[in-house]
Amino acid sequence: MEFRDLKTQYANISDKINSSIKAAIESGRFIMGAEVALLEERLAEYVGVKHAITCGNGTDALVLALKAMGVKPGDAVFVPDFTFFASAESVCSAGAVPVFVDVEYDSFNICPDALAAQIERVKAEGTLNPKAVIAVDLFGLPADYDKITKITHDNGMLLLEDAAQGFGGSLHKKRACSFGDISATSFFPAKPLGCYGDGGAVFTDNDEYAQLMKSLRVHGKGADKYDNVRIGQNSRLDTIQAAVLLVKLDEFISHELDDVNRAARLYTERLGDTVKTPKIKDGFVSSWAQYTITLKSKAERDNLQSKLKAENIPSMVYYPKPMHTQTAFNFIKSGAQDFKASDALCDTVLSLPMHPYLTESDIDKITRAVKNAL
Ligand SMILES: *Cc1c(COP(=O)(O)O)cnc(C)c1O
Repeated sequence: MEFRDLKTQYANISDKINSSIKAAIESGRFIMGAEVALLEERLAEYVGVKHAITCGNGTDALVLALKAMGVKPGDAVFVPDFTFFASAESVCSAGAVPVFVDVEYDSFNICPDALAAQIERVKAEGTLNPKAVIAVDLFGLPADYDKITKITHDNGMLLLEDAAQGFGGSLHKKRACSFGDISATSFFPAKPLGCYGDGGAVFTDNDEYAQLMKSLRVHGKGADKYDNVRIGQNSRLDTIQAAVLLVKLDEFISHELDDVNRAARLYTERLGDTVKTPKIKDGFVSSWAQYTITLKSKAERDNLQSKLKAENIPSMVYYPKPMHTQTAFNFIKSGAQDFKASDALCDTVLSLPMHPYLTESDIDKITRAVKNAL
């Protein structure tokens, strides 16, 4: 059994993928070929924003967004404590300081009350300029944008949505990748929409940010590539990856998003009485980058994982370490803040196999094994 079964996905769509890749290669335009422009149009249309701009990976997408927002040394950028390292790493790459914020135990996403408190603390300290908030759509579930957007804008800050895991999710029918002043996603193979290597994109309705990010991804180009008006990066999506994504986006829209939601419903039906299963509040739709259960203790979690392993059922701990204890962030003083939910989650979460090609009999096997182990 695979944790995320990309081989079965490929087996189902190999003819389309192979001919799309072949056409990209035959075009000879390996950088910024026609497929890239077409994909950007289709991504913008699906998400419902004016501009989708592809780039090298999800981490670069975050950095491009922060640079376009003018984030610089001396700025504070608020980031959830329970996330993948790149959410906070990108802030340092832009020269600013990440300020960690505890998450909600139930949604795994940044906690609006904790965010408001951290903003007040940074303002009172007066050493850093509160500039932006990065909200992460962890495990495919949009953050609580009704509250987060208001807190961010009321404090005169900008909102960056890290939708690396969130593509396809929605809140009140508005799609993920449309909530930030700029939003970023990743096409890393295991993400909800993945390519066959690294890839990413940024999304915005703002023409000025869009222009800046198009320049920044090609060495800060001005009128052309050899007229350089700012310090940028080299971060473009390969034409071959765009060719893969054009095929995969069709599959994602036509059935894969429904299929992961069906798998999640089956998991919750079968496990809801035994363990803490993910709660999706009214109005929210997840794209289920992960299906993550929460156990009562670290011992129970670790024991469950080893029993699943003995039955050849893969599972993962996303994430074992909160941001505020990462060695790379030792230089940051988090103050007297507590990270109660984040600390507890790192000890007790376990993600089960999740992908559109998971069968009902796979789910039966997994849920039976979970129940037996507990
Ligand atoms: C995967 C991920 C990223 C980084 O994306 P890459 O394409 O791997 O660079 C950033 N943030 C979150 C929350 C992620 O899960």
